[in-house]
Amino acid sequence: MMDENICQKDWYAILDANPSENFQELKQKYQKLALLYHPDKQSPDVPPGEVEQRVQRFIEVDQAWKILGNEETKREYDLQRRATELQQRWPVDAQVFLEDMNWVDGEQAYMYECRCGGEYILSKEDAEEHVSIICCDTCSLSIEVNKCSF
Ligand SMILES: [Zn+2]
Repeated sequence: MMDENICQKDWYAILDANPSENFQELKQKYQKLALLYHPDKQSPDVPPGEVEQRVQRFIEVDQAWKILGNEETKREYDLQRRATELQQRWPVDAQVFLEDMNWVDGEQAYMYECRCGGEYILSKEDAEEHVSIICCDTCSLSIEVNKCSF
């Protein structure tokens, strides 16, 4: 999962920011850090080891802004980040296609039997999302439901 994709680092943490901050706030944080770590802005009495670290930080800050400062890459990153968070919170036991679930008229929901004997329940509204992670009503497992197409 952690390959060469843009999700490999927490770019918000690198900018000392959090995901709820808006573009202007993120930009201010980026500018502040970029100035602080910019190789041309270092005073001559900073020890060489420290200079190296600051250059590294500058590169990271710059990368973070390349992703978060662009609407498209930011949205993509936010989505990946959210998926990763969900996965960490609820380990996914299986991937299931909506077609594999049983539509239950009385419940107005899709049901799928968990291996513990419990039930996964996906409401009609939730089924309209592209991908949903649902938890078993009995144990702590969850499944990821994929909808191919409508
Ligand atoms: Zn279960």
